[in-house]
Amino acid sequence: MKVQAAVTREKGKFEIETVELAEPKAGEVLVKLVASGICHTDTAVIEQYLPVVFPMVAGHEGVGVIEKVGPGVSALKPGDRVILTFPSCGVCEHCQEGHPYSCDDNFNMFFGGNYRDGTKRMTDAHGTEIGVLFGQSSFATYAVANQDNAIKVDVDTDELKALCSLGCGVQTGAGAVLNRMKPRPGSSIAVFGCGAVGLAGIMAAKIAGCSTIIAIHGSKGREEALAFGATHTINGRKEDTVARIKEITGGKGVNYALESSGQPPLAVSMLDSMAKEGLAVTVSVTANAEVPIKLEPQIMNPSVTFAGCVEGHSNPKVFIPELVKFYKEGKLPVDKMCKYYKFEEIEKAFEDSHTGGVLKPVIVF
Ligand SMILES: [Zn+2]
Ligand SMILES: [Zn+2]
Repeated sequence: MKVQAAVTREKGKFEIETVELAEPKAGEVLVKLVASGICHTDTAVIEQYLPVVFPMVAGHEGVGVIEKVGPGVSALKPGDRVILTFPSCGVCEHCQEGHPYSCDDNFNMFFGGNYRDGTKRMTDAHGTEIGVLFGQSSFATYAVANQDNAIKVDVDTDELKALCSLGCGVQTGAGAVLNRMKPRPGSSIAVFGCGAVGLAGIMAAKIAGCSTIIAIHGSKGREEALAFGATHTINGRKEDTVARIKEITGGKGVNYALESSGQPPLAVSMLDSMAKEGLAVTVSVTANAEVPIKLEPQIMNPSVTFAGCVEGHSNPKVFIPELVKFYKEGKLPVDKMCKYYKFEEIEKAFEDSHTGGVLKPVIVF
């Protein structure tokens, strides 16, 4: 079928084109997209900070309605509303254990340009194949996805628009807290970085019952952090972050910390801010950046754990419906992060996410 897609053929550019989208194969679904969020990974892709091949259609926070299902799909049917999320192979030991975020093939499935079976679904007017991102390519009016990365949710189409980020950014921040840390009620947490991922971590810390939630922000983010549940804020550009965290926690440091800023040196500040037996988690994409860590004073002596976390340690079929429940209960007000754009405003939406302080730009189709 013919669909409209924002094709990236050269670094940093989009062209909305009419392209051919193939029918869903076995285990796949065709989704009429309602909206797509823009996540920082989309920027990394279109700016080629990651080794992707063009032409490609980016976008990996799609939401929409099932239009058609391929052979062998029984859990989804036309009319179902779905949140698209990250793909996984479904057969490796991690997928089998219900840990698709650690799929052996995840990097390739996210950025390799192909679906699970090694093929593409989109072709342009000249017959050239177009690469897929995250097994969905949601900057388009329709997407083909696998039934494993199309998560059925019980919301109306208006609510769906606000929930794009549950597929990636919010899943990452909230999952790092609720799935990876599982903080004790009454404990303390520091969240480095107040973008969509960090703010989701703050909302999740409040849900988990953390009593001290310290947000470390830059020139922006203070008001948002307080609105979403932070009990204290620190301007990381002006204040001594570690000293302030120690002061707020009576000299002990924090029990948990989340590093979402993407700035490698803050991982060191995070370790310096930990209480004994603390758990420090990084979700930042920092390529091969190196930082100096003092193994004995920062890790061994205080019995601190320094952990990584991809896509919020999430099994999306379980976790995304949980996040929707929190949203409906008013505990995860992700709609307050969204600003909506028309499809033809996609370049403006990207610009605003970099410069205009928009937390979660959402393209509505
Ligand atoms: Zn796998
Ligand atoms: Zn993302």
